[in-house]
Amino acid sequence: MKTDILVIGGGASGLTAARTAAAAARKKGVALQVTLLEKMPRPARKLMISGKGRCNFTNLKPWNDFSTHIEAGSRLVKNAFYNFDSAAAIAFFEQEGLRTVVERGDRAFPASHRASDIVDTLVRSCLGEGVKIVTECTVTDISFDAKGRFLARCADGSEYRAQTLILATGGLSYPGTGSTGDGYRFSAAFGHGLSPTFPSLTALVPEGYKESGGKALKGHIPRETPLSSLGAKLCGVQLKNIGTRLYIGGTCVESLFGDVDFTDGGLEGPLGFAMSRKCVKALMNGNKACVELDLKSGVPDGEFSARVTALWKEQGGRLRNLLPRVLPRELTAAFLAAFGNTVKGPGTLAAALRAWRFPIAGFVGYERAVVTAGGIPAPEVNPKTMESRFRPGLYLCGELLDIDCTTGGYNIQTAFSTGALAGQSAALQLCAES
Ligand SMILES: Cc1cc2nc3c(=O)[nH]c(=O)nc-3n(C[C@H](O)[C@H](O)[C@H](O)COP(=O)(O)OP(=O)(O)OC[C@H]3O[C@@H](n4cnc5c(N)ncnc54)[C@H](O)[C@@H]3O)c2cc1C
Repeated sequence: MKTDILVIGGGASGLTAARTAAAAARKKGVALQVTLLEKMPRPARKLMISGKGRCNFTNLKPWNDFSTHIEAGSRLVKNAFYNFDSAAAIAFFEQEGLRTVVERGDRAFPASHRASDIVDTLVRSCLGEGVKIVTECTVTDISFDAKGRFLARCADGSEYRAQTLILATGGLSYPGTGSTGDGYRFSAAFGHGLSPTFPSLTALVPEGYKESGGKALKGHIPRETPLSSLGAKLCGVQLKNIGTRLYIGGTCVESLFGDVDFTDGGLEGPLGFAMSRKCVKALMNGNKACVELDLKSGVPDGEFSARVTALWKEQGGRLRNLLPRVLPRELTAAFLAAFGNTVKGPGTLAAALRAWRFPIAGFVGYERAVVTAGGIPAPEVNPKTMESRFRPGLYLCGELLDIDCTTGGYNIQTAFSTGALAGQSAALQLCAES
């Protein structure tokens, strides 16, 4: 089958690229056929589960602030962001009839709090612009035909030829949504490299948290690994307004304040996720990592010591009676298991509450990591157009690239922005040639 622009991948970036390309051609009065191939039965499976099903689709911070939430690739995103920023994303959904709301931290959601409304709007607007969406179509290989056009071969035997190709196949996270890293292989065939990938925004697994059966658990520890007795005591505990310090090789590299959750995966929640990128990278490089919890962050040292000393005297040093006065009740059993034998007086108790150390054995992998860090190196892509610097007519966008952000709507917005720029550039190039 022949088409003008072929988009591979129907996630946030691919749907945006396809819609923008078709709209740009229409505005120029040029008839271009845009075709999108998606391997799953329905597009944007990942968007459907984003934001716990509510889809935090953008963040309204201005670029200077927004860019501080981009962990890698901000140079590549800047132009794309100014071309299609968070306000433009909100305006797009509102124009399409989807009401949106902005919540704490400038995070935007559909007012319905249904991610499916975001997906439906993207798909409907693509179809409205005449984009042909083909689902259950897995591209297996990309080469060139005799006329120098891109030739995509699919698992069902179909073939698509196009003058222009947009790769929007995402990263490796949550492979059940269809993102299995195929784009790395496709782009390698055009000479692209790969910045090493690793899971980010994922659970960190403390030593002794999972049942090891006598083996030393290290590195990637699958989420389904059963909890140990310590893990079972901690799992479900949600800590609000505490301090965390991340140590890599004995040096404190990050100090944060906020919320931590212990889950079946390990240590996560906003602060767990925020530390995960540095921590996973360090572990993968063979460094030791440790997370320290300060359960009384914000209370001055002297004041806290005096309080613990007074409680110690009042309770005659009986930890079981004393702990519920200084700790969330559900944390008592785990604290006693960790420190019951070492706390001998108010000084050691205060120190333990201020610095509960969790050496980190490993992390939950791509199976449940929110994003993939690493990807196609930013210098290999022209930030003004998202065109490959190696192959004219090839455009790359979304999580496939070496771009990843913190939580808060930044990842989807960068997928929208890079997708929009790739689609617009691809269409304008073809319109200019026609
Ligand atoms: C659980 C979860 C929650 C998240 N919540 C948020 C959030 O609230 N806010 C936020 O900003 N970010 C969130 N993210 C991250 C965000 O969803 C992604 O960064 C973003 O959707 C990436 O979009 P993409 O289009 O680049 O890639 P993807 O969404 O991964 O899309 C790639 C598409 O390509 C298709 N594909 C792959 N290979 C082929 C092939 N060979 N042939 C055909 N099709 C193919 C895949 O099936 C997939 O549909 C979340 C991620 C997860 C996993």
